[in-house]
Amino acid sequence: MNGTTYKRCGCRDATGKRQGQRCPKLRRGAGWNPNHGVWQYQIDLPPAADGRRRPLRRGTYASQTEAEAILGKIRDALAVAKTGEPADLTKVGDLIELALKRKRPLPTTAEVRRLLHLGDTVEIPTIEVWLATWLAGRKKLRAGTRRSYTPGTSLTTSSPTSAPCG
Ligand SMILES: [Zn+2]
Repeated sequence: MNGTTYKRCGCRDATGKRQGQRCPKLRRGAGWNPNHGVWQYQIDLPPAADGRRRPLRRGTYASQTEAEAILGKIRDALAVAKTGEPADLTKVGDLIELALKRKRPLPTTAEVRRLLHLGDTVEIPTIEVWLATWLAGRKKLRAGTRRSYTPGTSLTTSSPTSAPCG
């Protein structure tokens, strides 16, 4: 579950099949060829509640540092759950999967801890709700910031041009 970073490219072999990670040009001596291929990371997320395996491959990144940084965040998030119940790992896996699917920032270790604490009394589907709440909270914060800079107009209910009725 530790994951890895590696290079791959789009070269094809004699039969027209993509070589991916097997292209000999990706390697130079004992190391990587800096002029060939792109970086990706790969990690197996903990299996879903229904047993579905979740191999994760993402890229492309310009550098190994960049790919390692994302992989590191995933490792950190999973590490929070490692000492707990097996179900905790599933929940964190769900969270990472959802964040990536929705192109959201990966959860921080603090956010994962909060989730697992809330998770004491709730079941898996609640993660959707939890994530929605988390995202809504961020949106609300931005809306509030915007509102404070907007001149209020809700108090000008009596304007000089309004004529009395009847
Ligand atoms: Zn190649």
